[in-house]
Amino acid sequence: MSGSIKVEQCPQCGALAKLDASKCEYCGAEFLVASLACLDRLDKTGINKYINFYKDLLKESSDNGDLNCAMGICYLDLGLYDLASKYFAKAIEQIPDYSDVYYHYALTLFKGKRPKVLALTEIKKIENYLNAAIQIDDSKSKYYYLLALIKHDFYIKNGLRINPPTYRDLMSEADSRPYERSEIEKMLQHVLINDPYLLDLLTRS
Ligand SMILES: [Zn+2]
Repeated sequence: MSGSIKVEQCPQCGALAKLDASKCEYCGAEFLVASLACLDRLDKTGINKYINFYKDLLKESSDNGDLNCAMGICYLDLGLYDLASKYFAKAIEQIPDYSDVYYHYALTLFKGKRPKVLALTEIKKIENYLNAAIQIDDSKSKYYYLLALIKHDFYIKNGLRINPPTYRDLMSEADSRPYERSEIEKMLQHVLINDPYLLDLLTRS
């Protein structure tokens, strides 16, 4: 992770922040959001509070990868994919050993569409980023689920040749890792999947 930032006030409730605290002791808000699930209970107003807060911090610390990643996550959650991908691209340069930044960047490349309608070059790019994430951290089920969705909705549905690992291989890799429900739900807001069979497998109901 890159250098710490100095937070004076909670971006959500405005309470004074304790020195070196990573979240607000009053409302519990994280100062630097690191995942889409962090934004779970926030509406657009709350996310915009974060965006304005990060804009100010980036004026002083534009080289901070965690900050660029947090900004990207806010824009991704709002569905502003082009904007989000700019921040993730910067963050990848700044914190190249952080797996989630590759995952989030890959998510922006879907632009909210279903895998089937994307171009092969885009799909290859997404797969490369997800494989980079896995190379760094092999413990996250969401990386494998997303690769499995691509195999199913892009390769199988378009009748293309499948190179290993297969859809089934990827699903079983995913199923053998801890399940993060809110992360998977957030993922499915940005990758359009209509197949009830796939959705059922992914929600582990
Ligand atoms: Zn607060």
